[in-house]
Amino acid sequence: MDITIVGGGVCGLALAHELAPDHRVTVLESSPGPRGGGYMIDFFGPGFLAAERMGVIEELRRRGHVFDGVRYGLPDGSTSGTIDAAPLVKAAGGRYFSILRPEVELGLLAQLPESVDLRYGVRVVGVREDETRDAEAHDTGTCEPGTGDAGTREDGTEGTATPDAAPGRPAVITAEGEVLESDLVVACDGVRSPLREHVAPGHGRILPMGYRAASYLFDDAQLAHELGQRMLMTDTIQRVGWLYAADAEQVGVMFTERVDPHDTERPSADPERLRRRFTGLHPQLDRALEHAPDTFYDDLVAQSYAPRWSRGRIVLAGDAAHAPSLLAGQGASLAIAGAEALARSLRATGPHVEAGLAEYERRWRPTADAVRRSGRLSASAFIPATTLQLRLQQVARRAIGLPGVSRLLSRQFIAA
Ligand SMILES: Cc1cc2nc3c(=O)[nH]c(=O)nc-3n(C[C@H](O)[C@H](O)[C@H](O)COP(=O)(O)OP(=O)(O)OC[C@H]3O[C@@H](n4cnc5c(N)ncnc54)[C@H](O)[C@@H]3O)c2cc1C
Repeated sequence: MDITIVGGGVCGLALAHELAPDHRVTVLESSPGPRGGGYMIDFFGPGFLAAERMGVIEELRRRGHVFDGVRYGLPDGSTSGTIDAAPLVKAAGGRYFSILRPEVELGLLAQLPESVDLRYGVRVVGVREDETRDAEAHDTGTCEPGTGDAGTREDGTEGTATPDAAPGRPAVITAEGEVLESDLVVACDGVRSPLREHVAPGHGRILPMGYRAASYLFDDAQLAHELGQRMLMTDTIQRVGWLYAADAEQVGVMFTERVDPHDTERPSADPERLRRRFTGLHPQLDRALEHAPDTFYDDLVAQSYAPRWSRGRIVLAGDAAHAPSLLAGQGASLAIAGAEALARSLRATGPHVEAGLAEYERRWRPTADAVRRSGRLSASAFIPATTLQLRLQQVARRAIGLPGVSRLLSRQFIAA
């Protein structure tokens, strides 16, 4: 089959890896190259097992890192507690490491079969499905990405007219006006997936969780040395900062805060605002704020949901289908595992593509929904709202060191 994958992020690359042996695969990615700008990802759970089956785990592990644990810091610079990673990693059978998000993409790229036609700098602006295959398709005909979330495209442009595609196969339309037909279109275009609105009308919007996160990497060998092998997390309410040495030269930082849960507009990164909001959490984070670049990752923490994942021969995968949010710490893991599940179902059903898409959803949705639900439930623990909540967390944290508790936590990790 000819398969077009929209989005060359973690999900798109993992899927291309799995489909390439049996199909002609084209990946269209809007960014001009592999996306830089990183935050540290905890890699474990279903994606870890899928990456093992795919034969890419060693490539990813080589690019990853296991921290000694977390140190909790107070605004005066003192330490309020620590958690060691070793018992958790051991109880998880070693199936756990941390890795910068861009390294996941680069690792998958390094393992990508040469036959994959990966095109950077190609933005998909419309999709047209096979109108003879799915009667419902007549209702909407075409979809113009960007109208699904907050009414405008990410790049702020107006919708363009959709050129005609030959009937019979789904097609995507690029910003340059090229129409690419294929036998299957997979939307791996992320949590703000414009194609989601087309597949599941009324579900194009993100589901904000009432938090906002910003992150960036910067050079500071001295700070990297001071941080060593432990991540720093502030023991604070309403606003929390993370800091870690990405390597001997680079430091990564993430700032999270509670915001109005009704906000859906994508915020714009503003280093001055960041300094105003987060100065005073911890002296080392204040140093990180001095390095805030002009542009950095800054977005609402959000999930996505679609009651159906496919429509005709257009199917959603990864964050486009089931973003659990960064609070669940499993988005990349689910994106890889979901891509593998989709490829496996298509392999099993051969020419019966729609049956393969239905099988993929039947098998994979329960896991994806469970992680999404647990991400929602654990969200409030991520950034304590009150001093009382913070105190309760400090007590719970002490319990993690107890025998049995870490094993229990790890089982939840792996099972989720
Ligand atoms: C701060 C932060 C921390 C996180 N921490 C963790 C963690 O600890 N553990 C974890 O597992 N996950 C974590 N995640 C989540 C994880 O990064 C995502 O869930 C994962 O990357 C999803 O992969 P994806 O390929 O589905 O989507 P994405 O990575 O968003 O990729 C989508 C791709 O589609 C492209 N695209 C979009 N629209 C178009 C278009 N119209 N045409 C062409 N291309 C398009 C985009 O450029 C992008 O490359 C975190 C996320 C954030 C933001």
